[in-house]
Amino acid sequence: QKPAYKWRRVLLKVSGEALAGDQAQNIDPKITMAIAREVAAVTRLGIEVAIVVGGGNIFRGASWAGSSGLDRSSADYIGMLATVMNAIFLQATMESIGIPTRVQTAFRMSEVAEPYIRRRAVRHLEKGRVVIFAAGTGNPFFTTDTAAALRTAEINAEVVLKATNVDGVYDDDPKRNPNARLLETLTYQDVISKELSVMDLTAITLCQENNIPVVVFNLNKPGNISKAIMGESVGTLIGG
Ligand code: UDP
Repeated sequence: QKPAYKWRRVLLKVSGEALAGDQAQNIDPKITMAIAREVAAVTRLGIEVAIVVGGGNIFRGASWAGSSGLDRSSADYIGMLATVMNAIFLQATMESIGIPTRVQTAFRMSEVAEPYIRRRAVRHLEKGRVVIFAAGTGNPFFTTDTAAALRTAEINAEVVLKATNVDGVYDDDPKRNPNARLLETLTYQDVISKELSVMDLTAITLCQENNIPVVVFNLNKPGNISKAIMGESVGTLIGG
């Protein structure tokens, strides 16, 4: 049995893929609403929630680079812009049910959202607003998982809660091996040495260096997001 944590400030990472669900469209509004409802419930308890959104449901730089003469940096900028679309969608959903929410972008788009200003982000959180960080790190060649680790360290959040479409980390691919076991706890070193596809190396190393635990859990099970935020045992906990 994993210990239950009481987080004060968390960073929720929502991948683009998780936002898409099984919809043909890029975003499933049922999923954004489920996220909004569960986040609303925990912010009422006083837990501060920051969110990093991915963009893979719309555009992934690495898989486009090379085609049609697109260089990696340009492709990655398009990918970062995709995360802004998701962020604005999620913000609109959150505000539709009354959660004050600010989007901060890693590069300036000041007609659309605030620029990322660390101290301002922290102030929003202290006032009970949800802050959505968009445009990743603002740099090509990185991922939004790395942005999640980076922002967590910057704003002194206590954990990265990685919402995915799987229950957690398995010892083998559960799609191919029906006997694959869900691992309840893992060390950073396990993830790195066994090359488990939890997060890219840059992201997991940043978490390790800053002692940031990572919880990988399934966003599609009702109640899981609030459970993860409340520090209840869910999915896989990666740490020390
Ligand atoms: N991206 C980037 N720098 C960052 C974060 C993201 O260049 O700091 C680009 C990259 O092209 C990536 C895309 O944005 O493929 C979408 O982000 P990601 O793939 O991390 O989204 P997710 O897998 O979480 O949906």
